Amino acid sequence: VTISAHSILDTFEALGLRNTRPRRLIAQRLAELAARGEDFATDELWQELLRVDPQLGRATVFRSVDVLVEQGVLDRVPFADGTHRYRVCGGPHHHHLTCTRCHQIVELALCLPEGELSALASQTGFDIEGHAIEVFGRCPACRTAGAASS
Ligand SMILES: [Zn+2]
Ligand SMILES: [Zn+2]
Ligand SMILES: [Zn+2]
Repeated sequence: VTISAHSILDTFEALGLRNTRPRRLIAQRLAELAARGEDFATDELWQELLRVDPQLGRATVFRSVDVLVEQGVLDRVPFADGTHRYRVCGGPHHHHLTCTRCHQIVELALCLPEGELSALASQTGFDIEGHAIEVFGRCPACRTAGAASS
């Protein structure tokens, strides 16, 4: 996935978050991770950026990640064990398939069938604002590893 550091900074700026050195470092690093298709935990991101800027505040990194999730730039991907990581995904609305052993993330094009959500809304009287679908299991590499060790 290609996303430029510039467009991430534009997202910050549109929300009134000034273009500071810490935010430039965050934006550059996220663009690199996106290009390599890598996911990350916020603490990992902070630790990496500390090597470049030892003054970089943990709160700044956490707040920036939260903002980018709210804006749809980053996806927050939850795992079956209750942990989560972040990722820049491509394309429109989608869900994720995750490995319970190595935490590999696969983007899924599947969603609820058309009409299912509106039927649900009229059945329950809810104004549906969103949904999440979590699919998890063992990836091919972990299935092989599991078979070898047992
Ligand atoms: Zn995604
Ligand atoms: Zn796996
Ligand atoms: Zn969906």
